[in-house]
Amino acid sequence: MKSTQDSSRTNLPDDGTNDQQQFGDSPTEVRDTDHYTQEYVTSFVEKWDELIDWDKRAESEGRFFVDQLKSRGAKTVLDVATGTGFHSVRLLEEGFETVSADGSADMLTKAFENARARGGHVLRVIHADWRWLNRDVQGEYDAIICLGNSFTHLFSEKDRRKALAEFYAVLKHDGVLILDQRNYDALLDGAYSNRHTYYYCGDTVTAEPEYVDAGLARFCYTFPDRSRYHLNMYPLRRDYVRTLMREVGFAHVETYSDFQDTHPEGEPDFFIHVAEKA
Ligand code: SAM
Repeated sequence: MKSTQDSSRTNLPDDGTNDQQQFGDSPTEVRDTDHYTQEYVTSFVEKWDELIDWDKRAESEGRFFVDQLKSRGAKTVLDVATGTGFHSVRLLEEGFETVSADGSADMLTKAFENARARGGHVLRVIHADWRWLNRDVQGEYDAIICLGNSFTHLFSEKDRRKALAEFYAVLKHDGVLILDQRNYDALLDGAYSNRHTYYYCGDTVTAEPEYVDAGLARFCYTFPDRSRYHLNMYPLRRDYVRTLMREVGFAHVETYSDFQDTHPEGEPDFFIHVAEKA
């Protein structure tokens, strides 16, 4: 099958490698927090919803996040990793006052279009990097969500601490941060299996680790038209994230495995940290 990208026009190699992402001559040396804006290139953003499949994702998540937020009386929610808007729209549908932030303008544009198309919602968007969130976000929120394995884009501990401190500051005195991550412990320890059940639910897209060491997990995403994209991410260990959250001041951190209280059979795909200020 020929790639739908016009390789004669773009001189693409026939393996489907996209021509927008730039990782240079040594892709596994790219370990830079700022690089995420160059990874979520327009054509990848356009394809993101094939990867996450909104309907299947809604089904597999069920009411987990909604119930976590409602049980704490949260009304105002800042989605700091809006992406194409899946959770922002889900929370608007449930009546939360939701504001949608992201460091990628392309993502926010796509999220705005998606929200319009799915229920006629008008997203309130803020283009902001987490490391300087308080510069761009006004007011305080009951809750922050940072979902879809987004925190993994921060490559230095300084950036992780800075982002968590910015999240902490935007929350009310009794606010909650809900942040998830891929189970990198399994990947680093050689027990990885991604069943695609929970997060990246699209059947037609493969998301596979291409390179892993203690400082980098490089994943390759292959789409039905054979186009391929990469993300370079920092492999966060579960307990490390929990420790960081406590060290920036969160009083309680509860960690769920794949939306369940108890540890499911086998290795979970994802961990979800629910960090309370009070
Ligand atoms: N939450 C969405 C989902 O689950 O589909 C999107 C997840 S996507 C893996 C990660 C998102 O985080 C991207 O939209 C990216 O632009 C954003 N992001 C990564 N690093 C960021 C940073 N330092 N500041 C703000 N946004 C960032």
